Amino acid sequence: MERLSEDRELRARKLWEEVLGHLKERITAQAFETWFSETRAVTVSDDRLIIEVPNEFYIDWLEEHYSKVVREALRSAGITNLKLIYRPAPKEEREDERGFIAVKKPSTRLQARYTFDNFVVGKSNEFAYSAARAVAHSPSGEYNPLFIYGGVGLGKTHLLQAIGNYCLKKHKKLKVHYVPAETFMNEMIRAIQKRSMVSFKLKYRQLDVLLIDDIQFLRDKEMLQEEIFHTFNSLYDAGKQIVMTSDRPPKEIPSIEERLVSRFQWGLVVDIKPPDLETRMAILRKKCEEEGIHLNDEIIHFIAQKVRKNIRELEGCLVRIAAFHSLTKRPITLQVAEEILRDMIKESRGLEVTDIIEAVSQAFNIPAREIKGKRRKKEIVEARQAAMYLMRHMLGMSLKSIGYSLGGRDHSTVIHSIEKVEKLVEDGEDIVEKIEKAKEILRSL
Ligand code: ADP
Ligand code: MG
Repeated sequence: MERLSEDRELRARKLWEEVLGHLKERITAQAFETWFSETRAVTVSDDRLIIEVPNEFYIDWLEEHYSKVVREALRSAGITNLKLIYRPAPKEEREDERGFIAVKKPSTRLQARYTFDNFVVGKSNEFAYSAARAVAHSPSGEYNPLFIYGGVGLGKTHLLQAIGNYCLKKHKKLKVHYVPAETFMNEMIRAIQKRSMVSFKLKYRQLDVLLIDDIQFLRDKEMLQEEIFHTFNSLYDAGKQIVMTSDRPPKEIPSIEERLVSRFQWGLVVDIKPPDLETRMAILRKKCEEEGIHLNDEIIHFIAQKVRKNIRELEGCLVRIAAFHSLTKRPITLQVAEEILRDMIKESRGLEVTDIIEAVSQAFNIPAREIKGKRRKKEIVEARQAAMYLMRHMLGMSLKSIGYSLGGRDHSTVIHSIEKVEKLVEDGEDIVEKIEKAKEILRSL
């Protein structure tokens, strides 16, 4: 009798090993590691193969997600007459007890430096900002879930954490937690491996405000999507607030289940756009103030002009200037700033002031240095005014910034020049042809 069961165990193991070999070829290494590395064949009878898995959660998961591929693997291993039965391994530890200890005092993972007060509001982010404030003011109100999306370094994490920090201050009793989607997944995998899924679920499902960062990370990750789906439902049904960020809108995240996309859109979806020049300058001024760095407007304008698409890079420029200043004690002039930031700003490329000056220079046949200079010769003035006009119309620059870009001309000169060119264009004067030519050059860049 003893002998017989040993034989059966051995046979079961051999069969299962073969099945696993075929499985390995059909699923990702990560999935295999997570779901199959801790399985163990127990025994085999005439009609069933018994496989032990760490716990009940595995059984549900395997049956729901891997039954088809396991069936195929069985077939490839020549096993057609056996039914596969999973059963949980004997418990080593009481999960639920551990769970309670683990969730007693969860950390919020919030960083205090992200607040609404130090978030500079401009046209590009005012919608997202207002929505974030509304949610922070009354969580689980009108906007649930709130979904914020936008490009890299535009302030999504800042706003998300600002919501958390505000909630903690104003609504002291609320349980608030911030988590990047990737961290959520790593915690989940660890929980599965350590057989502490119960406490993992408990940790997330007892929250009042859940802030999930970079949810685009869900793409192609089925089991993560599954868990987020259940967490979402559980919190949402209990009337708890969920806020998410992503680098793109819900329906543009590739390979993500439709049921999640639709849930993400149940509440409010807002975007953050790249900041305009004025906002970039305001952000730089604010950061200078915070860091105690003194830079004149010309330098601020220079940096804001060069770094367009990413606020983190704007900050990077200031950090470098501050470091240079404290190491050398040299005053920061425009030339110095240009020099120390040269390699940082070379990369960001969009239509820039220098492009406009260059295009006007070619179209009007006037050297760029004259356009930026002071001479008042008729042809030069005409080209200069055309450059102002294009800066206004193509880059949407403010009058003040245009003045700076062209050698420090004052606001009234700029406005007068632009109006003059506008009138000439309207009347179809000769200048139209040259301006069209400049635009063509700019379009071809
Ligand atoms: P994202 O998460 O969108 O990639 P972050 O929130 O990490 O961007 O922002 C990058 C950096 O820029 C952070 O240090 C953040 O504090 C700062 N930042 C972004 N937007 C603003 C803003 N409107 N005002 C002030 N600082 C900002
Ligand atoms: Mg971020």
